[in-house]
Amino acid sequence: MSYVDRIITDINKKNADQPEFLQAATEVLESLRPVVDSDGKYENAALLERLVEPERIIQFRVPWIDDKGNVQVNRGFRVEFSSAIGPYKGGLRFHPSVNLSIIKFLGFEQIFKNSLTGLPIGGGKGGSDFDPKGKSDNEVMRFCQSFMTELYRHIGPDTDVPAGDIGVGGREIGYLFGQYKRITNAFQGVLTGKGLDWGGSLARTEATGYGLVYLVEEYLKTVGDSFAGKTVAISGSGNVAIFAAQKVQSLGGNVVSMTDSNGYVHHPSGINLDKIKEVKLVQRGRLSDYAKHFSDATHKEVGDGVVWDIPVDIALPCATQNELDLAGAKALIANGVKIVGEGANMPTTQDAADLFIESGVKFFPGKAANAGGVATSALEMSQNSERLSWSFDEVDKMLNRIMVNIYHSIDDAAKLYGQEGNYILGANIAGFRKVAQAMLDQGLV
Ligand code: NDP
Repeated sequence: MSYVDRIITDINKKNADQPEFLQAATEVLESLRPVVDSDGKYENAALLERLVEPERIIQFRVPWIDDKGNVQVNRGFRVEFSSAIGPYKGGLRFHPSVNLSIIKFLGFEQIFKNSLTGLPIGGGKGGSDFDPKGKSDNEVMRFCQSFMTELYRHIGPDTDVPAGDIGVGGREIGYLFGQYKRITNAFQGVLTGKGLDWGGSLARTEATGYGLVYLVEEYLKTVGDSFAGKTVAISGSGNVAIFAAQKVQSLGGNVVSMTDSNGYVHHPSGINLDKIKEVKLVQRGRLSDYAKHFSDATHKEVGDGVVWDIPVDIALPCATQNELDLAGAKALIANGVKIVGEGANMPTTQDAADLFIESGVKFFPGKAANAGGVATSALEMSQNSERLSWSFDEVDKMLNRIMVNIYHSIDDAAKLYGQEGNYILGANIAGFRKVAQAMLDQGLV
């Protein structure tokens, strides 16, 4: 049995109850075959055994009191997966679906994504099964304070620097940071995604969505094309989706759809982002409310078709894991999609991703395509260390350069291993090489 096969068998035995982690780890391991099966040094150092095992898993109780005075209890997690190339770095997700499998899959992906940025950041992820939806600001604050009351002892600017993710935006980062500061009596860059007046970086909010579009734009440039005149489907209507849509529109593309957990909106003349921001970010409402404002926009509830049925040139899934399945991929391909870029983490199921690659659709995996968020978080850490703030333009230019570099490094790695255009393989190998070398250099840890 090959080294990779042995590790895949092993993780399936040990983590049988963690489907999302197994999905993410298997995808990475499969694409590392050409590297690790041809060089015994990895097996001799038990490198893969170590790579798939988090350095530390922290799970804790989060008790808090709701507005009616009732005690509520949620589960908190932080998975510190790999510190081979820098302090653990990765977001916090607050969503009822959160469990150890999801946090481990996200933390594992984060190792390679962070490596691809070229910046010194390790991989981690955390969160809770708390659902901020429908909670008052006070409830969210009490939850965040209780969450940080445990988390603070495990994190620090040189140890582990969390950020936002689904359900954790500027409001939550503010409450978490306030509690950290209160407990430790230290104003430190211990979280990223902070407010601009208290240590945040310009362009961090926009970074994941913008970065996704920069990476796809770089690919388009290499084939003499651009976003101008392209029809684009975007899923999600949160942070990543909104700023991806904004950048696509500024480059002349037409974004015709967005989704939320209740359904999707199809707006052929082009999504109005001011209205989306008002409905989703200010009113914290639903996309069905958006559709009521435009005579040519239609809203479909979940179960009544899917967003991938709409004919587009480019699809950017930016909501959540496994939202683009085989049926969605077939519909997109039948309608002539040319490019799929993942803004979310693992939004495409493995069979759907395989089909895109077999069909010649350019498929950019999340660990490369959405790395702009964490890259800009690392730039926020640098600014905090320097006690300086860079301009929007400076950060945006650095972000652009990082995404352009990521495109070329995954393209080069795919070519080097004889699989030109297979960006999944390219991203996994390019991300792995640096982390693996650091692990070898640092001995048995
Ligand atoms: P937000 O919470 O801002 O937005 C998430 C969006 O996805 C919302 O529109 C939400 O709908 C929808 N959504 C969430 N869960 C589901 C679900 N189970 N089914 C259908 N729709 C769902 O999150 P972000 O935009 O920050 O994150 C989106 C994705 O991007 C995630 O996969 C995240 O891990 C990834 N990502 C985010 C980064 C960042 O910088 N924020 C960085 C890199 C990756 P509703 O409004 O109904 O809740």
